[in-house]
Amino acid sequence: MFDVPTKALESTVVSVIPTLPQSIVDTQEVLNIMRRQDQFFASGMTLSEEFRRAQLFKLRKAVEKHEGNLIQAFAKDLRKSATEAYFAEIGVTLAEIRHALQHLRGWMKPERSATPMALAPARSEIRREPLGRCLILSPWNYPLLLNITPLVAALAAGNVVVLKPSELAPAMSAAIREMLQDTFPPELVTVLEGGVEMSRMLLAERWDLICFTGGTEVGRSVAQAAAKHLTPCILELGGKSPCLVSRTADLSVAARRIVWGKFLNAGQTCLAPDYILADESIHDALVATLREEILLRFGSEPLNHAQLPRIINQRHFLRLQKMLTPGSVIHGGRSDAEALLIEPTLVAAEDRSAAAMREEIFGPILPILKVKNMADAKTFVKAGEKPLALYLFTADRSEQEDILGSISFGGGCINDVLVHAGNRGLPFGGVGESGMGAYHGRHGFEAFSHRKAIVRNNTLIDVPLRYGPWGRFKDKAFRLFLN
Ligand code: NAD
Repeated sequence: MFDVPTKALESTVVSVIPTLPQSIVDTQEVLNIMRRQDQFFASGMTLSEEFRRAQLFKLRKAVEKHEGNLIQAFAKDLRKSATEAYFAEIGVTLAEIRHALQHLRGWMKPERSATPMALAPARSEIRREPLGRCLILSPWNYPLLLNITPLVAALAAGNVVVLKPSELAPAMSAAIREMLQDTFPPELVTVLEGGVEMSRMLLAERWDLICFTGGTEVGRSVAQAAAKHLTPCILELGGKSPCLVSRTADLSVAARRIVWGKFLNAGQTCLAPDYILADESIHDALVATLREEILLRFGSEPLNHAQLPRIINQRHFLRLQKMLTPGSVIHGGRSDAEALLIEPTLVAAEDRSAAAMREEIFGPILPILKVKNMADAKTFVKAGEKPLALYLFTADRSEQEDILGSISFGGGCINDVLVHAGNRGLPFGGVGESGMGAYHGRHGFEAFSHRKAIVRNNTLIDVPLRYGPWGRFKDKAFRLFLN
């Protein structure tokens, strides 16, 4: 047994495994980390509620202590304002930790389950146990939220974790490593910085769970790597999330919420409305209202607006520029290549062949397509892959039920955007090409746990029916009991 006194573990701030540049952290280094984490997990230390609670407290304190550093890093990587960084990342992360602390005891309790008559007098229960050593691979767009929310779930469920933030947000990657290295011993949580090579090196090893957030194509290669070891995966992927606006929608509320959700983080949000399908009867009015709303929020010179986040890098900036084809821009469209800024932009699109409709946009460009009605919009969405999110603006209850009942998508909102992801009572995840598995709140705890099914029998009563030899009487009795 790996004997580590709880007290020592909670108070030490040691990280004997230095986090080295990717070229220096070799496979042997990774294997050493994994071995130490396995030994620590096998010690049983992570099993108690007390231990898990202590880690969540430490994590909360760490986020609070490092808030200043994190805000600076957000500004460096994404030019995120302090307010946006707080409400969309730091505040939500702290709320997730608080929620886990509040509910941990209830989540950990064995759950009674009904027992069929045939098994009487036994009782049944489901016990949650940690899976073991988990790998968390995350993207750059919400670097704190998408590293720490899975970490909260993993720690609440009693696992040990290796976490690799995205190399594309280097300031945040370093800030997260410093924060976690300063908080947890490496046998519990290790942060390894690096790029694709580091990811590949990690994916070649055996894990008990992989939680990946990122693009669909990379997700596919993660699933392939996981299959080799039969490792379960949570894949939080992207795609094109539609926003349907019906003729009965309240256009000013719709425009306000769409502009907020689309241009937050300069559109670099997996859940952002990717494109609008507008009923033809309100199309022009909606475009006019969206324009007014953009002007109201970002002014007539958005590129000079201090709260317009930037595009993460030149590659993505150039990718987005290609979507602004001649004649398609109906509002905005200007950009600053040096500062990697693009104005909140509306473009007209006819169908899926438009430049902005061929791939997930992941930037401040919003195509608007005209449809005859919501039935037409439904056909359009169903012809594509199952999206991560779907938003519908309508006052018509039957339209709501029709869309909810007939289109498959990860999650979404009626008359709003994004906010379903802020409700910790709801599972957050995709379906089909937009991902598998879900987390947030209890769902995260469940996703990082194994549900162990137990029948607890006693030895006082032993119904002889099941034991052979079986004759006609037992045969009849089976038919009676089992039907
Ligand atoms: P990405 O897939 O390029 O990178 C994610 C992680 O995978 C990073 O840590 C990266 O180092 C690693 N990686 C990249 N290429 C790899 C490869 N070939 N093999 C192994 N690992 C590799 O994603 P991104 O550009 O950082 O993020 C944008 C994408 O993520 C968008 O598609 C977006 O919709 C999606 N996303 C989804 C969610 C969600 O919760 N569903 C949240 C945020 C972003």
